[in-house]
Amino acid sequence: MAQSQQLKKDVAVEEAYFTLRSGNHIPALGLGTWKAEPNVVRDAVYHALVECGYKHIDCAHIYGNEKEVGEGLQMAFDAGIKREDIFITSKLWIKSCIPEKIREAFDVTVSDLGLKYVDLYLVHWPINLAPDASSPPKKGQVLPFDTMGVWREMEKLVEQKLARDIGVSNFTAKKLEHLLSNCTIKPSVNQVEMHPAWRNDNLLEFCKKNNIHVTAYSPLGSSSTDLMHAHEVTETAEKLGKTPGEILIRWLIQRGVSTIPKSSSKERIKENMRVFDFKISDEDMQKLSSISPQKRVNPGAELLVPEGEDEEAILREFWDGEI
Ligand code: NDP
Repeated sequence: MAQSQQLKKDVAVEEAYFTLRSGNHIPALGLGTWKAEPNVVRDAVYHALVECGYKHIDCAHIYGNEKEVGEGLQMAFDAGIKREDIFITSKLWIKSCIPEKIREAFDVTVSDLGLKYVDLYLVHWPINLAPDASSPPKKGQVLPFDTMGVWREMEKLVEQKLARDIGVSNFTAKKLEHLLSNCTIKPSVNQVEMHPAWRNDNLLEFCKKNNIHVTAYSPLGSSSTDLMHAHEVTETAEKLGKTPGEILIRWLIQRGVSTIPKSSSKERIKENMRVFDFKISDEDMQKLSSISPQKRVNPGAELLVPEGEDEEAILREFWDGEI
């Protein structure tokens, strides 16, 4: 086998999956579905799974499109994709973040997706919002979050074999420490914002030390930033003959992080999968990591800061200083 072919094979096999603490494998790359219109997400899911070799679809009740994602999954199953060969993540929304509501919320999600179980179910945010809360919430609509009460119900989903793994999202190291010291089943995954303009180094180190796998959301800087055009990204892309999107995704995988870029475009869904046949050198990894300023795109202000309140102070407290 020619050397370049051997490299291609090794890179692909080694890095297509990461192993979770449960022993289950999470694909290094998945398709994000936030802001994917219901009328296009069905085809995007089908295209990703059947034509591009994706194995992971990242969903959430709040994205308002799980029924259409489910239709895309069904089309993929009809085309020969096997349920056990793909990995489906979904998330518990913050208006159902009390123990009594969790099973009901989970049942709605699996029914919408047309599945019997999910591979990974996440607590979407460590926030408990009143069911009638507005966005942004009014004073009094952000209620105390009962971490352990919520987690016990999440653990039951594993015990009942309805979720193969459970995890969290948008948790800081401090919140994870509390969870780790009190839980029976430890979280397999923390899904957080991560890209070169928000490296989140300390949290990543904490998660690695504690065997919690990190999945990066908004890997391309989400739809509202210009990260793709940062010179550190475009220069590296040009040098390696790759696109900025491929570079950003590859940067994450080389940090040991799985990721879930969203696209509704067939071309870009295919492009984003072309990340297993090349490596970014240490020097270029460092160059990408030098992007400044470091800033969250999605700090969650609209979820937890009531109008007229001190946004900076509330966010600093919520993120335990990781901001
Ligand atoms: P991404 O960083 O994935 O960026 C998506 C944007 O980039 C879209 O506008 C998309 O447009 C565009 N795009 C996709 N591929 C390319 C490409 N190759 N070249 C140029 N543009 C491209 O942002 P998201 O914020 O959507 O994050 C990804 C996923 O993470 C979400 O969809 C969701 O599943 C999850 N998420 C989870 C959160 C959480 O709290 N747990 C929070 C936020 C996101 P187009 O569709 O036209 O291609």
